[in-house]
Amino acid sequence: MKLAEVVETSRQIAETRSRLEKTRLLSQLLAKAPSSELPIVVSYLSGRLPQGRIGIGHQTLGAMRALLGVTAPALNLRDVHDAFSELGELSGAGSSARRTELLRNLLGRATEVERDFLVRLLLEDLRQGSLEGVMVEALATASSLNVESVRRAFMLSGDLAIVAKTARAEGEAGLANIAIELFRPVRSMLASTAEDIADALRTLEVAALEYKIDGARIQVHKSKDRVRVYSRRLNDVTDACPEIVETIGSLPSRRLVLDGEAVALRADGRPHTFQTTMRRFGRRLDVAGLRRALPLTSFYFDCLLLDEEILVDERYENRVARLHEALPGELIVPRIVTAKDEEAQSFSEKALVAGHEGVMAKALHAPYQAGSRGKAWLKVKSAHTLDLVVLAAEWGSGRRRGWLSNLHLGARDPETGGFVMLGKTFKGMTDEILKWQTERLQELEISRDEWTVRVRPELVAEIAFNDIQKSPHYEGGLALRFARLKAYREDKRVEEADTIDTVRALYEKQTGERLAPAQAQLSLFGDE
Ligand code: AMP
Repeated sequence: MKLAEVVETSRQIAETRSRLEKTRLLSQLLAKAPSSELPIVVSYLSGRLPQGRIGIGHQTLGAMRALLGVTAPALNLRDVHDAFSELGELSGAGSSARRTELLRNLLGRATEVERDFLVRLLLEDLRQGSLEGVMVEALATASSLNVESVRRAFMLSGDLAIVAKTARAEGEAGLANIAIELFRPVRSMLASTAEDIADALRTLEVAALEYKIDGARIQVHKSKDRVRVYSRRLNDVTDACPEIVETIGSLPSRRLVLDGEAVALRADGRPHTFQTTMRRFGRRLDVAGLRRALPLTSFYFDCLLLDEEILVDERYENRVARLHEALPGELIVPRIVTAKDEEAQSFSEKALVAGHEGVMAKALHAPYQAGSRGKAWLKVKSAHTLDLVVLAAEWGSGRRRGWLSNLHLGARDPETGGFVMLGKTFKGMTDEILKWQTERLQELEISRDEWTVRVRPELVAEIAFNDIQKSPHYEGGLALRFARLKAYREDKRVEEADTIDTVRALYEKQTGERLAPAQAQLSLFGDE
């Protein structure tokens, strides 16, 4: 297959706002791809290289943007893939010169649009709109398979390329054979937001309410005496948390997959801030020292496998019943089941008094499903917060000179894959955070001028605010009032950040006013 076909589809996908049309375009291309190249197509159109990051940054690429390319497209997908593999394997003396030479050679054989695509692919800057979700639907259409089977296979394998290959070669039966496997983490189930307790109970009627603990999501796998711990992003973080390995290792069950939250508690039993707990999972770790200063406590709320039983498709109440069989009470998150408003309110107050963030409300009947589709899990927090993406940052002045300070924040636009700016903030930052963000944001730099550094949209920040108001300054027509940084959420992927639709819905709930449809809004503010 020619690279040009992939590039053209990518362009068409980026141009349409219609999810249905995106799915149609993608599935057409997938159906055409030869089996051996299907995983590459899936990966490129999900905005990632099959090789993962191969260490080519914007500085190397910046110098190549002006290269003279060819006018007629000739590159094969396979050649590009091989070149990236070779680039990824380079190391040692002379590798940097060789890297530049290889890249120059590859991009020199590309047309201008191909080069633009490849550069953005390398920078993970291809914005085409809710890629994973659309890809799941397109895979189902391309192989005439049930979308739920594809989604489930993706949840369990965590790898769209494997799902695509299996769907093509073995159909529905092959997908059904993709099962939960110990030591291959399952994509996490996530929550939607409820306004308050009453709102959550209206939606669910009878609900399990659990403390919402503001720590780090953990998925723990155990087989006999082997225990591994995975983060929300499915990275193996076992070495960072030996106490969790000890706790789960000492349980009598032979095989376990548990979902839970790890948190550093203070001497009085109240939780440290999220930022403090996350120090346990930082980059350069003195594990023994940190363990002494900030010991982790783990609370579990779900069980996906217990000994010989696979529980993923079981109702939540059955999974929790198994959790109680496998774990002592102190390892299970405090919970009640109720349909009564007063009971729910007083449980929520207890959670807040104990220093927790709020509660989770869960539907009793729901199976375990990755992502936050539907309303099976609802989070109820005491403060208004949104998870937004940092798009750029301005250099500070005065005491903050030399530090990146004022953050530009955007909500996801799931239809275009772009971001809608909602405001800026320089509030809520300690010196430690300023120092950290200055370093981190420059690693993500795409370009800069005298005042501002524009960054790859990869960093999610949890932003507290007072309310949402109309604003002529921003393309979405809305802005946050009194926005301040609550915490960086490096545990979240950009795909999990809040969307402009959520912000619009919040505004409507808050004011009782109906907003004009998004399309009209965009043209009103002159967006192209
Ligand atoms: P948020 O990170 O604010 O979007 O809230 C969702 C996260 O809350 C989940 O990913 C978990 O890490 C965390 N969490 C804390 N307590 C619970 C609970 N009882 N059930 C599910 N998730 C929880």
